[in-house]
Amino acid sequence: MTLRTLDSLGDLAGKTVVVRCDFNVPLADGVITDDGRIRASLPTLQRLLAAGAAVVAISHLGRPEGTPEARFSLAPVAKRLGELLDAPVAFASDTVGPDATARRASLAPGQVLVLENLRFDPRETSKAEDDRREFAALLTAGADAFVSDGFGVVHRKQASVFEAAQLVPSAAGLLVSAETAVLHRLTTDTARPYTVVLGGSKVSDKLGVIEHLLPRVDRLLIGGGMLFTFLKAQGYAIGGSLCEVDQLDTARRYLADAESRGVEIVLPTDVIVASKFGADAETAIAPIDEIETTVIGPNGLGLDIGPETAKRFAELVASSKTVFWNGPMGVFELAPFAGGTRAVAEALTKVDGLGVVGGGDSAAAVRALGFDERAFGHISTGGGASLEFLEGKALPGLEVLGW
Ligand code: ADP
Ligand code: MG
Repeated sequence: MTLRTLDSLGDLAGKTVVVRCDFNVPLADGVITDDGRIRASLPTLQRLLAAGAAVVAISHLGRPEGTPEARFSLAPVAKRLGELLDAPVAFASDTVGPDATARRASLAPGQVLVLENLRFDPRETSKAEDDRREFAALLTAGADAFVSDGFGVVHRKQASVFEAAQLVPSAAGLLVSAETAVLHRLTTDTARPYTVVLGGSKVSDKLGVIEHLLPRVDRLLIGGGMLFTFLKAQGYAIGGSLCEVDQLDTARRYLADAESRGVEIVLPTDVIVASKFGADAETAIAPIDEIETTVIGPNGLGLDIGPETAKRFAELVASSKTVFWNGPMGVFELAPFAGGTRAVAEALTKVDGLGVVGGGDSAAAVRALGFDERAFGHISTGGGASLEFLEGKALPGLEVLGW
């Protein structure tokens, strides 16, 4: 279980290296609203450039369905990458078409070329291996090496992740190596107390992680939309809050399982109830047995953990030696419901040990709330990938690199 490293590729001076990045950033009207993933790609790119390689950076963005769509163009990413690298970055308006081919032919050592969105070609995500292999062969044509550094996609069997790594000498980039090492630490030899904080919208998204981590952790703190399914499972009235009726039995099973294992499942004691899903909603703090009896009335929506819970969660997090946090505690995108997420994030920065933030929205929340990323032990760039890793699943994009 060791990934092939960049060093295994030997001297890269004058060589052409294709780097699979994860430039899947949020865009609003063509403007990048969070460039965290681009910045996360810099160490590998800088290292390859310093080694004298010519770099072809490839990525997907969003979910175009195999045809070009202007709103998913990587052009804004190429521009931002140039600013961050403080060097000219060329952009090809296609992936394996005439523009990319011409630009690759004239690419010099120390230069970067970003190709257009890989998912503009249906072969990238095709179910047919032959299609993926064909596309991967075009992407790596003329390249001396392939570096996999898009951690957010290593759980996908896609042309630029899986097949490309088999066609030329390949290795993990610094981001993929770092992410894998940290997540591996969370599954072995963890310092205790080990606390997992889960939130986000759905229990069903997190079933695998709960199942896999429950036997390994000391405490499981539950917030976010999923907490209401747990409360409902225990017989509480939850008004109009999110609830996955088909997960009630599962939630009960987890609670029973945790008890028999001596794992503490910590559920909120209070929540913030809102009159509607909006920043201008009327709100009330409700103990969990009074969710339907506040001034908001019986249909209130639980949109955040309450202040008492936030304080307790923060104490439990800050006093742990290992923490994995996935999923915002509330609808952090709306200021009145960001308090719980802020409290947990703040506490995570105080962990004397390893504090990890995993999950796309959780990482975005930390940045949106103004925290300095360096205050955390690790912020994973890959939501689905980090969860699947912690679920103990084999990730094709890591296996192909020797893991
Ligand atoms: P991540 O991407 O970090 O894994 P998720 O995708 O599971 O996180 O969940 C993030 C979303 O959950 C956020 O958009 C947030 O608004 C939403 N959310 C959190 N708490 C609630 C709640 N109480 N009700 C509805 N949505 C919620
Ligand atoms: Mg998400």
